Amino acid sequence: MDARLSSSSNQRSATSSGGPVRTCVGCRSADLRSVLLRTVVQTDGAGRPVLVVDVDRRLPGRGAWLHPDPRCLELAERRRAFPRALRTAGPLDVQPVQAHLEAAGHHQLPGPSPEA
Ligand SMILES: [Zn+2]
Repeated sequence: MDARLSSSSNQRSATSSGGPVRTCVGCRSADLRSVLLRTVVQTDGAGRPVLVVDVDRRLPGRGAWLHPDPRCLELAERRRAFPRALRTAGPLDVQPVQAHLEAAGHHQLPGPSPEA
């Protein structure tokens, strides 16, 4: 009567723990939704489609996901990934997204340090 039960292997694939995953339209790699930036298309005053950053991830419609990284933005722009992902005809101006990334980058700076 020596039935030793080895502890059952409790394997958990930890590949995608932490929430839903989306694919970046720039580098095409999947990442957590929470670390990606959501962009959507809206219409400007002249009736032209413009790309905007959906900061709260609440805007209706189709969204394109992007790492908050200028390199991913550049890749997406070069591949024309935004019009394709967002199903718009014609090119999209990525300037608002670029401005958002730049603002976010500046935001990380604590300000001019007194000690140079
Ligand atoms: Zn990316």
